[in-house]
Amino acid sequence: MRGRGTYRREIESIAGAVRGAAVRTGPRFTIPYGFDATGLRGECGGVAFPRGLEDLAALLREAGRRGVPVFMRGAGSGFSGGSVPRGGGLVISTEHMHRVLSFDPGRREVEVEAGVVNRELQDYLEARGFFYPPDPASLNFSTIGGNVAENAGGPRAFKYGVTRRYVRSLTWVTAEGAVVERSAPDGPAALLVGAEGTLGAIYSARLGVLPAPEAFRTYLLEGGGAAGALGFAAGMIAAGLSPGVLEYIDAKTMRCVGEHCCLGGIGNRADYLFVEFDGEPGVVSAEARAFEEMARRAAAAVRPARDAAEREYLWKLRRSVSPSLARRGVTKVNEDVSFPLGRLPEAARAVQELAREYDLDCYLFGHAGDGNMHVNVMTDRRRAEEMERVHRFVERLFALVVSLGGALSGEHGIGLTKSPYLGMVFSEAELALAREIKRAMDPGMILNPGKYFNGGGAAAAARSG
Ligand SMILES: Cc1cc2nc3c(=O)[nH]c(=O)nc-3n(C[C@H](O)[C@H](O)[C@H](O)COP(=O)(O)OP(=O)(O)OC[C@H]3O[C@@H](n4cnc5c(N)ncnc54)[C@H](O)[C@@H]3O)c2cc1C
Repeated sequence: MRGRGTYRREIESIAGAVRGAAVRTGPRFTIPYGFDATGLRGECGGVAFPRGLEDLAALLREAGRRGVPVFMRGAGSGFSGGSVPRGGGLVISTEHMHRVLSFDPGRREVEVEAGVVNRELQDYLEARGFFYPPDPASLNFSTIGGNVAENAGGPRAFKYGVTRRYVRSLTWVTAEGAVVERSAPDGPAALLVGAEGTLGAIYSARLGVLPAPEAFRTYLLEGGGAAGALGFAAGMIAAGLSPGVLEYIDAKTMRCVGEHCCLGGIGNRADYLFVEFDGEPGVVSAEARAFEEMARRAAAAVRPARDAAEREYLWKLRRSVSPSLARRGVTKVNEDVSFPLGRLPEAARAVQELAREYDLDCYLFGHAGDGNMHVNVMTDRRRAEEMERVHRFVERLFALVVSLGGALSGEHGIGLTKSPYLGMVFSEAELALAREIKRAMDPGMILNPGKYFNGGGAAAAARSG
């Protein structure tokens, strides 16, 4: 890969060769498309907006011929620098590929272009009595292409699983511009799920969907400290309860939510669990009764949502967590590590101790059902000494994750931010195999170079199926 801005001439010649796709090289595009949600800025030589499969294939073909690095981009909401361009390469945005291509209620399948926003898909399906279970907290803006490329999870992952479970086939474009139509996920398409745009460009995804749940029971449980709330979550799972949503929010995070969003009488001194049962009414009632009984025995205060408006309100609180934290500091360092379920209380305690040791402002929340803990440090990139402490904290955090048998990324991927640490979890033999797969699928090394194994993405694609 060459230095900053040196692909400008090639990108302009790609623009001439691919007439269907708008290609922009002015700062109005290259600056905003140089970032993702991490706030990291890369060097972007131009941004292309394909309108369909033909444009996408032509862009890849022409970029490949000229050796121009390509960075696929959905909404840029990634939290690991996955879509951040490097070395002045070409960003391909899927924004203008946002059609629902087909819906087959009999087969329970929908096919959408990569740029469809998760929320748009949910609304489309809701109007037809169905839903698509993977609903990352970024569903209002993140795209299906980005969700598939990151193997996105979310609040419902414990009961319903993550994106991979719902991918029926992908139509995608190879690094050399060849189109692979409707390739089933037991072939090479399996590698694309979670490969973060390092192995191919996804044009569309055929996804499994489910009938919308008939009933919901939603609660906020006040669980004392981390051990109380997370211990209660582990107890629910051990008792065989299967909530659709089981989210942990620590007291400090709840206080932060309270500063930016009305808590409506909900306290903020304890750690909380946000719990929702969904499904067939009889089953939901039985599970809700068992949950209330468990809470009574544990003397834990519970606030049930009594109607749809209250349910919506509790969801609003949950979805306010990330935006509320974002207002708290100039820089949010968000590590989505995961721990074995039974070890979550111990992990939460250890993380808070580490934060105290490095004197950092740290907030914990996450998907308690599948052990995925978001460790957020609010800091300021401009304070070099503090950033150095954050860096050492993150290294110790990852060492803690490995020692407890967890994973570096529960859902946000490896991207730029975690690739230096992959050696902590994968052996050299695994990393070498990943590099071989990368070379076989992207011989010119043009797809998202410099990320994720520094050019060898596939082993980590298998990290959290
Ligand atoms: C407030 C907030 C909450 C979040 N909550 C969650 C959560 O609950 N669960 C979760 O999993 N994540 C969450 N995320 C992270 C992020 O939203 C997800 O990773 C999401 O899947 C990224 O989608 P995107 O469209 O923004 O992709 P981008 O950020 O644009 O890209 C992400 C990666 O996918 C690749 N990519 C994008 N489109 C394609 C394509 N068509 N073909 C090939 N590769 C492609 C990119 O190259 C990049 O490596 C959250 C982020 C924010 C800001």
